[in-house]
Amino acid sequence: MISVDEHRATVTGLLGTRPAVELPLADCAGLVLAEDVRAKVSLPPFDNSAMDGYAVRSVDVAGATDDSPVTLPVSEDIPAGRTDVPPLLPGTVDRIMTGAPMPTGADSVVIVERTDGGTGEVRIFADAAPGAHIRRTGEDVAAGTVALTAGTVLGPAQLGLASAVGMDRLAVHAPPRVLVVSTGTELVLPPEPLRHGQIYESNSVMLVAALKALGARVESVRSVADDVEQFRAAIEPRLADADLVVTSGGVSAGAYEVVKDALTGAGVEFSKVAMQPGGPQGCGRWNGVPVVTLPGNPVSVLVSFEAFLRPALLASLGHTGVDRQHVRANLTESLESPKGKRQFRRGYYTHSEGQVTGVVGPRGGPGSHLLASFTQANCLIVLPEDVTEVAEGEEVDVLLL
Ligand code: AMP
Ligand code: MG
Repeated sequence: MISVDEHRATVTGLLGTRPAVELPLADCAGLVLAEDVRAKVSLPPFDNSAMDGYAVRSVDVAGATDDSPVTLPVSEDIPAGRTDVPPLLPGTVDRIMTGAPMPTGADSVVIVERTDGGTGEVRIFADAAPGAHIRRTGEDVAAGTVALTAGTVLGPAQLGLASAVGMDRLAVHAPPRVLVVSTGTELVLPPEPLRHGQIYESNSVMLVAALKALGARVESVRSVADDVEQFRAAIEPRLADADLVVTSGGVSAGAYEVVKDALTGAGVEFSKVAMQPGGPQGCGRWNGVPVVTLPGNPVSVLVSFEAFLRPALLASLGHTGVDRQHVRANLTESLESPKGKRQFRRGYYTHSEGQVTGVVGPRGGPGSHLLASFTQANCLIVLPEDVTEVAEGEEVDVLLL
């Protein structure tokens, strides 16, 4: 038997680091920058007004109040987007909108609310401190400086900034093309009717969702019979278009273990990992393409995904934080765990204000077929290899999903 940590390291090594690729911004959400981004322009690119109002020389409105307003002629109307703004004529003001370029000569903005809003001339009821309501060139980002560093995860703010500094494409760690394969002669796809002895396929649905959420491009073969020839014929022609193949089922100790039978000796190693659920695991290369083989029970699939594939894939995509958040929590009921195996139980974690540690209650038993209870869980309770029982109230480690 190998340990959970050993197998995780093997899968992480197998997936390696994805190469850099340039993608349009719209395809970069959730991915990780592979190179620094230097600003092509300053942000803001020019001095502009932060408010709707009047661009003024502050000396021209000195002393203006509600009781003694200053009246000045309006020279120009400057909406956002105007590109031919002349210098401010002495003794006048320009009407200006938010985001419009400041005319040279103006050193302040009086907000429209402190005026009568005039267009030919305007009555101004407040003075203006020099520099008020002006956004200065480069105060957010200076042209030529690094706006985003390699390793940054591209969320909405990061993508917005990339566009704001002039980028239309970014170098990111290429999302892998993953082929998800479900094996099992018993598998039927909804809405086909079930015959006695058949079940509806669910593993590929879970894996596709979980992989897509990490940024992978995913295709699936949802039902391959437990027949080595059929398995090879269905998957081998598709290997050339995959960066990773993830299979479920057919890897344990019985007969008809199609994945094991087809891939043993073809570059994939099968082992027993000291965990529950999810013991039978495999990984390696098939015709050079990384393959991770998961057991068939749906809960084992999701737990294996959490334990191995999620951290390995995140690392391959350039993420540094690949672990789920861990917390300690007090168990609401006692639990047992097999000796020598790391047990992952589905749980529901709550934390009330004022509590030092949260509270976690198991959802469903240890059975790896109990998918419904997984849907009521928000965490995995992790019971280490050397633990065989934990009493109610004791502290356990919890992985927040
Ligand atoms: P196996 O590892 O192939 O022996 O499968 C273990 C258990 O998981 C069996 O009860 C299978 O019917 C079930 N199983 C395997 N693949 C799937 C799947 N894709 N969807 C739902 N259940 C599955
Ligand atoms: Mg099977």
